[in-house]
Amino acid sequence: MNNRLREKARETNKRIHSLRSLRTAYTLLVLLILVSAGLITASVYIILYTLDFIPSAALTPLILPVIVIFSCMIIGTLLAVFVGKLFINPLRRLISANEEIRQGNFKVRMSEQTVIGELNNLMRSFNSMADELEATELFRNDFINSFSHEFKTPIVSIRGFARQLQKDNERHILTDEQRKEYTDIIAYESDRLARLSSNILTLTKFENQQIVTDKTEFYLDEQIRRTVLLLEKQWTAREINIDLELDEIKYNFNEEMLAQMWLNLIGNAIKFSHRGGTVRIRCRKKHEKICVDISDSGEGMSEEILHKIFDKFYQCDTSHKSEGNGLGLAIVKRIAELANAEITVKSEPGKGTTFTVKLPQSGE
Ligand code: ADP
Repeated sequence: MNNRLREKARETNKRIHSLRSLRTAYTLLVLLILVSAGLITASVYIILYTLDFIPSAALTPLILPVIVIFSCMIIGTLLAVFVGKLFINPLRRLISANEEIRQGNFKVRMSEQTVIGELNNLMRSFNSMADELEATELFRNDFINSFSHEFKTPIVSIRGFARQLQKDNERHILTDEQRKEYTDIIAYESDRLARLSSNILTLTKFENQQIVTDKTEFYLDEQIRRTVLLLEKQWTAREINIDLELDEIKYNFNEEMLAQMWLNLIGNAIKFSHRGGTVRIRCRKKHEKICVDISDSGEGMSEEILHKIFDKFYQCDTSHKSEGNGLGLAIVKRIAELANAEITVKSEPGKGTTFTVKLPQSGE
């Protein structure tokens, strides 16, 4: 049973326990009302009797119990109406708060200061449910906004330049350079769109995946070397030195998935390095773990940025927008979760960044 299920089971147990205490509280309350009604009736009866307010006709064995029972019923009902409000009013408020939630207002909260402890627990769990729903809603809206923005920008640009070229077909208003520039932009933006779609598909696929399939045995060092070769065009264009220190390590996992993680991390190290900088990659066994360090001597990141880099669509420097879409590290994070790996980042603005991935030895 995973942690989430265990947590749920604990929650349910707590609720059952709280339901039992609520039932006990309710039984005690009814008993209290009955005893109070009996005592009040008896006291009123004794006072009236001592003051000679009760006619002797009412003292017959037939009438007396009827009077007492009726008095008890009236007094008990009045008491129940008063005491019941303590139970009913918070529940009524809870029902209308639930209705608000149903209509999409996730800002509604209940007071946790009722006189009955169990009701406070109920209110607390309602409030935490509303907190969760509000956070999910915010996250969803944020995601949808970023998603539509990321898709819309290249499409608008492609459409604009394609229309210019269309007009040019009829009126020949563009120079050769302009025509080349516009077609270049269209090709470039289409590439960006294609990369974005493929990243979204990859992320969605990994997010919906709970178990890792297609595990095979392969050499990690070999896989990293191949990734570096794949990125050769990028690092040679920017005269970046690659420094590899890779121990020979056999690993058992989904090869394609892990390759995607190295591609994103090494790709970033190259992308965010200064021209002529160095990217250092180390892979070794350490304390029952396999440690892969990917360091660059690039621009680095502040603490504030570090907190957000694994968020979907987050990009610190939008001038790099054409080369990325802010999904690379979200994909890395998900792969690390599926691989039971730990991922840490150390970074200093102006000095560089090191991502460390600690994989479990077995590759489970
Ligand atoms: P992108 O597509 O922009 O690379 P990522 O999800 O891969 O998206 O990274 C998110 C952001 O994290 C980047 O835009 C950048 O600001 C920051 N970042 C990631 N890796 C590095 C690095 N090695 N050095 C500096 N900043 C980095």
